[in-house]
Amino acid sequence: MKEQIDILIKLQKTETEIGSIKSVFSHVSAKTDRAEAGLAEFGQILEAEAAMADQLKKDYRSCEVNVRDNVSMIEKKEETLRTIRTNQEYQALLKEIEGLKKKNSQIEDEMLAYLSRIEESEKNIAAKKDELSNLKLQLSKEKEESAKEAEAGKRKLAELEFERNTVAKAADTNLLKRFMMVKDLKGGIGIVPVINAVCQGCNMNIPPQMYNDLHRCDSVKICPHCQRIIYWGKPEEADSEK
Ligand SMILES: [Zn+2]
Repeated sequence: MKEQIDILIKLQKTETEIGSIKSVFSHVSAKTDRAEAGLAEFGQILEAEAAMADQLKKDYRSCEVNVRDNVSMIEKKEETLRTIRTNQEYQALLKEIEGLKKKNSQIEDEMLAYLSRIEESEKNIAAKKDELSNLKLQLSKEKEESAKEAEAGKRKLAELEFERNTVAKAADTNLLKRFMMVKDLKGGIGIVPVINAVCQGCNMNIPPQMYNDLHRCDSVKICPHCQRIIYWGKPEEADSEK
């Protein structure tokens, strides 16, 4: 039985290592996913800003058209002015011309405001584009690095999995089944030592009789609290940790 327990302890060690490599993998890929999502969001902000700048330019151009139309209307009216005979009509037309000129000067003020908003928006877009390309560069460097790390991790993982499978072959089938089942249910840990009568999986005390039996190592014992397979661990281990 001692031999079987030793096999499981070895298996657990390998499983733990496999688990930590896998967890590094998933952290790295989650980090990359987050960075890519951030990049996509940034791209959308940039697009929105560009759409706004386009709209401002359109508005500016339509102001330009209005001013031009008004100018040609003013010209026509000034032309007519020369042919007018009565003072009343003359004054009325003059007033219309003044009105159009006033309107144009208002539109021109609006155009100036548009220009400064366009300028500001374009500066903003340029800065954001720079930032975006820096972020992209940074992300691609990070991806390159993590790809290298992943390559090394995969090799190590393959070695560990081979080792685990080799060790598992020597294990008792039913015991192995139990170990794998508990391990999957209990956060990747299926076998734990009991030190000073305390299960190191759940930190609960196991019954004294069970602790005594555990030392003899003649049968498989299960922690009554966390259901993990337990084995007797040297009490000094707990002391040395303190
Ligand atoms: Zn326990």
